[in-house]
Amino acid sequence: MKLLKIRKKVTCYSLKRNGVTFRRLRGDSDATIQHTARWTSTKQLKTYDMSEQEETFKIELVKRGLIKADEQHKKYETTFKRCMFCDFRNGIADDICNNCKRPLDRKKILDEQKNREDQIKNMQKEMEDYKKEMMSYLMAEAKKQISKEIEAKINS
Ligand SMILES: [Zn+2]
Repeated sequence: MKLLKIRKKVTCYSLKRNGVTFRRLRGDSDATIQHTARWTSTKQLKTYDMSEQEETFKIELVKRGLIKADEQHKKYETTFKRCMFCDFRNGIADDICNNCKRPLDRKKILDEQKNREDQIKNMQKEMEDYKKEMMSYLMAEAKKQISKEIEAKINS
């Protein structure tokens, strides 16, 4: 019984709404539509159409993670990928964060991090090798210098 009432209400609402759209397409003036639909003013009619469009638009934005959902729209909020770095909400289909351009995929992020760490390690190793090379070069030069000095002393 209750269900039947709700269903009837929904149907009436749908018919009313479709009626407005149909009349608009047919080119009826606001006043005519208003009269037929028994609304109190054309302003209310405009608000009705606008709010509907705004609502749809808002839901799309929320779904794509482009705006923060308010309490009413929380239910549409499931399809977004939050960036691990900057907390930006990206669309479900995005691979790269629209804000900071980092990959949104966790594995990709970890791979990138690992790659960066490897690069740092490699650079550190290169630095160490370079230092060792430099030291042995300096040692060799010092030895040469000392040998020269000793030779000079012996020859004098
Ligand atoms: Zn980001």
